Amino acid sequence: MRYLFLLGFILTSLSSYSQKITRQDSLRGSITPQRAWWDLVHYDLSVEVMPESKTIIGTNVMTYKVLNEGPNELQIDLQAPMKLTAVMQDGHSLDVRSEGNAHFIQLENPQREGELKKISLSFEGKPRIAKNPPWDGGITWKKDSNGKHFIASSNQGIGASVWWPNRDHPADEVDSLDMHVTVPKDLVDVSNGRLVHIDTDATTKTYHWTVKNPINNYGVNLNIGDYVNFSEVYKGEKGPLDMSYWVLKEDEEKAREQFKQAPMMMEAFEHWFGPYPFYEDSFKLVQAPYLGMEHQSSVTYGNRFKNGYLGRDLSGTGEGLKFDFIIIHEAGHEWFANNITNKDVADMWIHEGFTSYSENLYLDYHFGKESAATYTIGTRDKIRNDRPMIGTYNVDKEGSGDMYYKGANILLTLRTIAQDDDLWRATLRGLSKEFYHQTTTTAAVENYIANALNLDLTPFFNQYLREKDIPTFEYKIDKKEMHYRFNNTIQGFTMPLRIKINEKYIWLEPTDIWQCLDVPKGTSTVQIDRNMYVDIRKM
Ligand SMILES: [Zn+2]
Repeated sequence: MRYLFLLGFILTSLSSYSQKITRQDSLRGSITPQRAWWDLVHYDLSVEVMPESKTIIGTNVMTYKVLNEGPNELQIDLQAPMKLTAVMQDGHSLDVRSEGNAHFIQLENPQREGELKKISLSFEGKPRIAKNPPWDGGITWKKDSNGKHFIASSNQGIGASVWWPNRDHPADEVDSLDMHVTVPKDLVDVSNGRLVHIDTDATTKTYHWTVKNPINNYGVNLNIGDYVNFSEVYKGEKGPLDMSYWVLKEDEEKAREQFKQAPMMMEAFEHWFGPYPFYEDSFKLVQAPYLGMEHQSSVTYGNRFKNGYLGRDLSGTGEGLKFDFIIIHEAGHEWFANNITNKDVADMWIHEGFTSYSENLYLDYHFGKESAATYTIGTRDKIRNDRPMIGTYNVDKEGSGDMYYKGANILLTLRTIAQDDDLWRATLRGLSKEFYHQTTTTAAVENYIANALNLDLTPFFNQYLREKDIPTFEYKIDKKEMHYRFNNTIQGFTMPLRIKINEKYIWLEPTDIWQCLDVPKGTSTVQIDRNMYVDIRKM
């Protein structure tokens, strides 16, 4: 998610770009010495949610592996006004040195290399209320039309530490997760993975959810409401896949109709990206009191059961009304964001670029290549080319919001350059396999693609990811000769370019140096293949 809420989006982009880097940004965004010596293994997160007082109280029992003997301090993140109330290890209460949202736990017992250790983090408070979820996250406290509580967490960007204590950096994920969520007895909690057990007492119910696969922090979520559930079994590439839908009672009928797109999504994405990455945890769509978010194996949905983006077509071409934007985009993140996760949010284009491109691939699968191209090309007028898609490393700073539509358009351009749709599909499927359940970097992803396509893509990625501008193809025609080059590029930029001269397509290898081509007499203009995201200028 985290895409286009236009105004909010401009403001976030500008402010995060001009912002000074603070000590808190470094503590949050880097592998500090107090994070470097240990590796996450498991979270067992128990929370009680009290809607009347908008309070959360809980304990996260974290298991970690000691990688090497460190500084005897362990960093945990938790944002005010939430408070760490107790930290325990091996039956002892530990002291904590806090610096803003970073809490350095003073370990007493030896931490021996290779050892698995547990630490228990108790916390409570009234967590930040989400002002504009999911972009400006926290907890949303709403009520449905029957007056029942409808509550959800959403915390991409701001971080999961807005409501529970954890290691709030994307490079390291737990291998598995358990959640025990206690809610008033008349409500249901839907979280990640599979529901294994419900404990009932006089006034509350506790829902135990379990996730068998690695999961990123920001994907961990609570959804509490008067839910009903329906489900189906999808015959997928890896066998039967449980697809389960949780919606408010009042919306069940609409959901049963609209969610027919969920198996269509699964079919298209398994074709292009390979098997859904979390069969063990099932796939769920969960209604939420905000637009939606890619929470792993419990994708949240609030698109009003309409096609498009809240009923609108983001591409302006009509193609965007052929699918429910939130079902397709947020579920696309299961492959890019949840399966393949950035190690640093500076590389978040890996999440949003590929996922925006997944909208194209959904259309391609069900409506054809031209429909898909028209859609992606239609989103180009939302690209700003204001700053690079890659952000600043180690300080929790994302790149330009162009990572969505520019990301999709450069992938469409690459597919055109590949000139082999089977190889392109094999490359996409290969990414899901190569980086299966891993966190990774732009460098690793671009290397993989270049090797798979057997192309030197260094200038391509340097231009499109690390610069703000896109290349301009400049040409002039003098009788029977066309002179052409790329301008507005990094030095030495080159990429194959497919152009149309006199109704015929040919490939050129322009560089930033003028070259010459014989053209038929009377040629006055040329066109670039519309699938390639390049400007053109006749001199
Ligand atoms: Zn997204």
